[in-house]
Amino acid sequence: MAAGRSLPRYMEKKLTDTAKPNRGKAYLVGAGPGDPGLITVRGLEILKKAEVVIYDYLAGEKLLKYVPEDAEFIYAGKKGGVKHTHTQEEINEMLIDRVRSGKRVVRLKGGDPFIFGRGGEELEELVKAGLSFEAVPGVTSASAAATFAGVPITHRRYTSSVAFITGHEDPDKESSNIAWDKISTGVGTLVFYMGIKNLESITANLMKHGRDPKTPVAVVRWASRPNQKSVVGTLDTIAEIVRTNDIKPPALTIVGEVVKLRDTINWYEQRPLFGKRIVVTRTREQASDLVALLEENGANCLEFATISIHPPDSWDELDNSLQRLGDFQWVVFTSINAIHAFFGRLYAKGMDTRALATCKIAAVGKVTDDCLRAYGLISDLLPEKFTAEGLAQAFEKMDVGGQAILIPRALKAREVLPARLGKAGARVTIVPVYQNKRPEGMHETLRAKLANKDVDIVTFTSSSTVTNFIEMIGVKGPRELQELMSGIKIAAIGPVTGRTIEENGLKVDIQPQTYTIPDLVDAIAKDARSS
Ligand code: SAH
Repeated sequence: MAAGRSLPRYMEKKLTDTAKPNRGKAYLVGAGPGDPGLITVRGLEILKKAEVVIYDYLAGEKLLKYVPEDAEFIYAGKKGGVKHTHTQEEINEMLIDRVRSGKRVVRLKGGDPFIFGRGGEELEELVKAGLSFEAVPGVTSASAAATFAGVPITHRRYTSSVAFITGHEDPDKESSNIAWDKISTGVGTLVFYMGIKNLESITANLMKHGRDPKTPVAVVRWASRPNQKSVVGTLDTIAEIVRTNDIKPPALTIVGEVVKLRDTINWYEQRPLFGKRIVVTRTREQASDLVALLEENGANCLEFATISIHPPDSWDELDNSLQRLGDFQWVVFTSINAIHAFFGRLYAKGMDTRALATCKIAAVGKVTDDCLRAYGLISDLLPEKFTAEGLAQAFEKMDVGGQAILIPRALKAREVLPARLGKAGARVTIVPVYQNKRPEGMHETLRAKLANKDVDIVTFTSSSTVTNFIEMIGVKGPRELQELMSGIKIAAIGPVTGRTIEENGLKVDIQPQTYTIPDLVDAIAKDARSS
């Protein structure tokens, strides 16, 4: 750098360079085998910043919720030879096109992108096009199937080598790329991907080339997912077992002595609620605790939101109040949805929490109080009883006569609090900051599942979950409800919920002694063990 120059050379270049650099980049990310917890930390970081995501059939739908809502979602399809939504060429084109236009494009693939995932081919195309990329490995399904079927893929006593083999190739074809004579006896554990259709000829070929017909074999479908299914046999029996159990792709075949260890290690499928399909109707935050605990016990949870949150039709009323926040002595928050919506709009208007500097803040309960803290506010009033009535009572104990109170809340909500505050002489302003809508399409799905008996248990954690559920499935009367629920167990958190269930003509099958979520899950697990 010449003396006297004030800028370092790299900055100089930036200032003089007129061509805008293309920041577009492709991220080839392994999604893992299906359980969303099995993506890598790096993979998740990338997903959260995606502008475009191109995902495959096996890439775990559950991961998509981490992608920003305004991203472009492209389903690339590819379902074991059946229906290809897009050809490989089209996928390559879409990928290149989006990266060229400057986007952060995530190519999300099931398992590991480099293991039978065509990840290599897609990266070759990117290199050809001169575009930048990063690749993130994933937990391959062989590894997951072994772990979740209780089969250590290698073990010092049994095997010291393992091979991943494609079962897509018909072993009978003349020019096989697989050295059957060598792998049959030369490798300890053999894992076949995409091999269900050809299982008969794969096993026959292994035996023909010297592998003992009594070698244990496990076939694992949907590994690591709550609907995982596995069967075990030997080389000479497994094809028939797979057929009689109607095991379809996607499934992996693990061949080798290590399969014997499943008898000792099979932990995942032995969890008390494994395979149980449990409906959880979600109306508030609590439901996610229930789902997490049920899933930890192995359940396959079917979550149904009875409501979804939307912005109000107009922000005018809130905007109006935001302009004159200084006029209010109190702002009252009765739900976290109201808090998020209120601050979302406040920030959007270029304001921040200082706008509330002269107001006192009331929260209805612990959850709203915690939520306010996250926005940097400590409530001035928190009732002893965390209900609208409790909050009304707390206000009534103070003198609120003549005070201006703002309540940002749902479009439709209970009137208890504003009514009692009004009675106490306060000037109450209610502004809608969100509205509840019933999610479309949900109830048909739930109804069909109940009718087809694709559900084992339905859980209820409050009376309102019962009424919401009944409203949601849209039955005409108790007879229809009883029919839909026949053969399906009903679990209630406690006697109040239980009474609502009975009032609707149904019977409670499971109810814990103590009325908490963990006790409810224990009671469901106990019932499953004994039935
Ligand atoms: N890249 C993927 C494999 C893609 S090939 C990976 O690393 O796992 C597709 C095959 O993978 C399927 O036919 C099936 O054999 C296997 N597979 C993928 N996910 C699976 C899962 N969850 N359970 C069982 N097999 C799975």
